[in-house]
Amino acid sequence: MKDCIFCKIVRNEIPSYTVYEDDIVKAFLDISQGTPGHTLVIPKKHIANIFEYDEELASEVFARIPKIARAVKASNPDIKGMNILNNNGQVAYQSVFHSHFHLVPRYTSNDDFKMIFKDNSNKYSPDQLKAIQESIEQHMGD
Ligand code: AMP
Ligand code: ZN
Repeated sequence: MKDCIFCKIVRNEIPSYTVYEDDIVKAFLDISQGTPGHTLVIPKKHIANIFEYDEELASEVFARIPKIARAVKASNPDIKGMNILNNNGQVAYQSVFHSHFHLVPRYTSNDDFKMIFKDNSNKYSPDQLKAIQESIEQHMGD
C-alpha cells in the first residue's frame, strides 16, 4: 500500500533496523524500544489487522515468530521472558494499520513494560458467561 509506513519499510523506502526477513515476513526493531530489543514482526503483504488473515498467511507468519523470539531472547542474557502482543483497532491501541506483532523482551517485573488485566470474574454470572460463549461459538466460520 502506497502510503503505509510499514509497506515503505518492506520496500526499504524508509530505513529500519531489520533483524530478519524472508519472502513472507520482515522483523525490525520498534523505534520506541519499549524495552531494549523490542521487535516488530510484520507480514510483507499489507493487511490491516488480525481479522484480515487467511489461514495460509496466518500459518506462515505465526510459524516464523518463535524463531525470531528465540533470537531476540538469545541476544541479551538479561532477557528473562517476553510478551508478544498484537493490537487490532484504534480502541486496542493500534496506531499503524499494517498488521504487526510486538515482541517485547522482559528483564524484570519492574521494567518499562506494563500490562494490566483486571479480574472481573465476580461481575459475570454463569448464565452471562454461557450467553457470551454461545454468541462467539455461533460466529465461528464467519
Ligand atoms: P501499534 O501501536 O501496536 O500499532 O504499534 C505501532 C508501533 O510501530 C509503535 O510501537 C511504534 O513505535 C512503531 N513504529 C512506528 N513507526 C516506526 C518506524 N518507522 N520504525 C520502527 N517502528 C515504528
Ligand atoms: Zn502496509
